[in-house]
Amino acid sequence: MKTIGIIGAGQLGLMLTEEAHRLGLRTVCLDPSAEAPAFAVADEAIVAAYDDAAALEELCRRSDAVTYEFENVPGEVLVPLVERYNIPQGFRPLYDSQDRLREKTNAREHGLLTPGFEAVDDETSLRAAVGRLGLPAVLKTRTLGYDGHGQRVLRSEEDIEAALPLLSVPCILEQFVPFDFEASIVMVSDGERVVSFPVGRNIHRDGILDLCVVPAEVDPEILARMRRESERFMRACGYRGILAIEYFVRGGEIYFNEMAPRPHNSGHYTIEGATTNQYRELARYLAGMPLEEPRLVAPTVMKNILGQDLEAAREVAAEGRQGVYVHLYGKRESRPKRKMGHITFVGMTAREYEAAWASRFVE
Ligand code: AMP
Repeated sequence: MKTIGIIGAGQLGLMLTEEAHRLGLRTVCLDPSAEAPAFAVADEAIVAAYDDAAALEELCRRSDAVTYEFENVPGEVLVPLVERYNIPQGFRPLYDSQDRLREKTNAREHGLLTPGFEAVDDETSLRAAVGRLGLPAVLKTRTLGYDGHGQRVLRSEEDIEAALPLLSVPCILEQFVPFDFEASIVMVSDGERVVSFPVGRNIHRDGILDLCVVPAEVDPEILARMRRESERFMRACGYRGILAIEYFVRGGEIYFNEMAPRPHNSGHYTIEGATTNQYRELARYLAGMPLEEPRLVAPTVMKNILGQDLEAAREVAAEGRQGVYVHLYGKRESRPKRKMGHITFVGMTAREYEAAWASRFVE
C-alpha cells in the first residue's frame, strides 16, 4: 500500500487524505499544530515546524511520494530532500510562486499577460513606480501575503502615505485591473498529459474567496483561451503535479494574478461537482496512476464558510438537502475570516444561489 507524504495538515491536506483513502493509499502529514485538521484522518502524524530538516526527512522516509499543501516551505530544507527522495513536483513551482515579483516575471516570460508591475523597496522607488504605472495601483508584500493580507490599494497621495509602513519588507507595485470578473483554473500534469478542471468564476469579499461559480457563465471563447494558455504555461514551465492559476479578466484580456502548486480553494467544487476532483487527480499523479479527464456533473456553486458563517453552515448541514454538501474542517478555534469549511451546491446556478441561499450567510 503506497503512502503519500503531505507537508502541511490543513484543510487541503484533509481533503487530499480523504481522496487518497478512496484510492487505497495512506497518508502521513507534517504540521506544526497538533490540532491541524488533516491529523484527524491521516494515517500518521508528524508534529514539527515546516523548516525542521530532521522531521521533513522523517516524512520523506515514511512516504513513497511527497507533496505540499502549503506554499512557504523553505528551499533550504526542501532542496536537499528533492535530490534524495521522491518529491515529484520538486521545489521549482514553489520557488516560482513564493515571491510575487518572481512569480509575475516567470508568468510573463512564459507567455502570460500580467498587470504592469515593478519591485519597490522604499518611498523613492514607490513614487517612481507610481509615476510609471499610474494610479490606482496595488502595493503588495513580495512574500507571505495571502487572502488580501499584506496589500493595499493606492488611489491617492494619502493612500501612498498610509501604505509606507508596508515597505518595511520588499514589495511589488502592480497596476490595478478594473476587472469584469476573476477566474481560476486547476490543472494536473504527469509530465505528458495535462488535465484541467472547468474554470470557476470567483467572487471575493475582503480579499478572501467567497463564491466559486462553475460554469463561469461568461464568454466561452475567453474560457477556452484561458485553458489553452494555462496548459501551455504549465508545459512551458515543466511543472508536474498540480497547479492552480488565478486570473483577472477585463474585456478580451486575461491577466495572470497568481498561482499555487497545490490544491486550490476554488477547486473545492470539484469534489462533488465534477466526475473526478483536484485531490483525487493529485493523489493519482503521486501514486503513478493514469490521470482521468474531469467533466462537470452539473452547474455548481461553492460557498466558503468563514468563522462568521459557521453556525449557518451547521444549520444547512442539519437540513440534509439534496445536492447540498457541507464540509466542516473541524478547526478547534473559529474566528471571523478564518476558513472553517465550505458548502458545495450541485445543480445550482449563481442566480439560483443568490435567490435561495445567499441571505442565509453574513452579508
Ligand atoms: P491576491 O492576494 O493577489 O490574490 O489579491 C487578493 C484580491 O485582491 C484579488 O483576488 C483581487 O480581488 C484583488 N486584487 C489583487 N491585485 C489586484 C490588481 N492588480 N487589480 C485589481 N484587484 C486586485
